[in-house]
Amino acid sequence: MRPRGGLGPGPVWAQRVRQLEQRARTQEERIIALETENAALHLKLAAYQGWAGRSVNEILQLYSTHGQQQKLQRSSLVTHLHEAIKRLKQDMKSLHSFALELSKDFQRQYKACLYQILTAVQGIQLQNEAMQMFQMKAFDLEQSLQEVTGRYEREKQRRRALHNSLVELRGNIRVHCRIRPSLPFDHAAGHSVSQERHRNSLENVAYAIDDETVLVKCSRPGHAPINKTFQFERVYNATESQDTVFADVAPLLTSLLDGYNVCIMAYGQTGSGKTYTMLGPQLEENLAFVNEDESELGIIPRATQELFRLISEKPAGSYWVEVSVVEVYNNEVFDLLAKDSCGKVFGIKRDVVTTREGKSDVPLLTYETVANASEFLHLVIKGLQLRVRHPTLVHAHSSRSHLVVTLTITTIVSGDNFGTSWEDEQINQRLNKEVSCSYPQKRDSRSTSSSRASSPAQLEAAEKLKQVKTRLQLVDLAGSECVGMSGVTGAALRETSCINRSLSALADVLGAIAEQRSHVPYRNSKLTHLLQDSVGGDAKLLVMLCISPSQKYLTESMQSLGFGTRARQVQRGQIKKRNLPVLSKTK
Ligand code: ADP
Ligand code: MG
Repeated sequence: MRPRGGLGPGPVWAQRVRQLEQRARTQEERIIALETENAALHLKLAAYQGWAGRSVNEILQLYSTHGQQQKLQRSSLVTHLHEAIKRLKQDMKSLHSFALELSKDFQRQYKACLYQILTAVQGIQLQNEAMQMFQMKAFDLEQSLQEVTGRYEREKQRRRALHNSLVELRGNIRVHCRIRPSLPFDHAAGHSVSQERHRNSLENVAYAIDDETVLVKCSRPGHAPINKTFQFERVYNATESQDTVFADVAPLLTSLLDGYNVCIMAYGQTGSGKTYTMLGPQLEENLAFVNEDESELGIIPRATQELFRLISEKPAGSYWVEVSVVEVYNNEVFDLLAKDSCGKVFGIKRDVVTTREGKSDVPLLTYETVANASEFLHLVIKGLQLRVRHPTLVHAHSSRSHLVVTLTITTIVSGDNFGTSWEDEQINQRLNKEVSCSYPQKRDSRSTSSSRASSPAQLEAAEKLKQVKTRLQLVDLAGSECVGMSGVTGAALRETSCINRSLSALADVLGAIAEQRSHVPYRNSKLTHLLQDSVGGDAKLLVMLCISPSQKYLTESMQSLGFGTRARQVQRGQIKKRNLPVLSKTK
């Protein structure tokens, strides 16, 4: 169709056509461009698709290789495992065989052990039987040993009793020897002593080899060796207690109440244990001791306890006990119980005289009546205090003086009770000389006694009664050491020479009695004069030798042992007994 109007339709259309054609061309160009772009894109797509294809292939390849690798790995693991299993199986096999071997071996060994055990058990059974046999034998032996020991002990006791009777019959002096333990003060060295000599001096040289023998064994350079034994009635070693020592002394106290005089005397050098044995440790210095340890008490306090115990078994009032305490210092006798007008105790010098009957006596000596052991101890302690404080005593050392504690036991005997035989008559005659006819005779107005009878009836009967006195003398001698005179002067020299003189006088007296000389020199010293009746008379005399064990004191120990040996040999004739009736509590 053609356009209408001024320009006619042709040009418009033509323009329009051109426009359209233009547009068409533009469109076409665009289409071409797009197609080109499309193609390019196609190309790109194709390229990409190619890449993608390749990538897929690669991935697939990778997958396959990965798969293969995994397969490979798996298969190698499996083979490894297989191999390991194989090896394990092999190991198992070898282990199994080893275990088999082992169990076989074990079985073998087990059998062998079982066999051994069985033989051992059999052996043990056999041994058990043998052991039982041995046990039975041992039991039998033990029993027979006990029997033998018992018999031995009984025989020993019998032998001792026989020996004691023999000693008594012969009038021998009993000698016991006590070896004290080594003590710290033994170790103090002297100034001039060399180390070597000091060491040697500490060695023990005196031993108790049994309960009757002392052995002194010593070899010193420059001296002849010593190997000597000494026999005594009893020997105590260092471990033996005060109890044991007293047990052997106690029977003498029974004799005392049976009418015998008794004297117990400690002999030995200073420090050898005389005071310890007689009184106990430190009794003199420390008076509190007495109550502290009863087991340490010495012979004097124990003897008194025992004496009062024995008296307590007798009828009341039939015995009473008086005490005197005397010190012999520088050949003078001091009465340690003497009192002044105010009642104060002080040591007074006394004399020793010989009575018409030939007995020794100390006129004016203080006798205190005591009713029990503690009263006695109280008195002795008072006396001992005085001994220490004695004005003339230069050395406070107790061993510078001899101490004599005397207990006089007076027994009331009715005239009817005296024996009637000729022998009794003889003794009565002898006794009557020393028996006073009034009862009770009080020697000291201050003394009191609960054991004394005092009723009028008894006093009336006094005429008929007689008193028999027996005496217990307890002596702690001064140290027996022979101190070298050089370097000792003045009072010490006098003391030492007095001690030496009195102890050698004692030895002389014993010598004279042993040789049965007509004259016994009792009066050569106050000590022997005072102890005359005990040493030479009819007392049962026990000398307690005290010995220090160490070499340091060898000379003194040998001297003491020699003294004891000589004392033992003294024969004084049969010990006489005062004629006492047998008193019993029921009487
Ligand atoms: P002495 O009186 O002979 O000079 P002592 O009796 O004073 O000697 O003894 C000297 C020291 O030895 C004291 O300290 C005493 O206690 C001690 N002593 C003596 N004998 C014994 C003993 N058997 N056991 C223990 N100590 C003892
Ligand atoms: Mg002493």
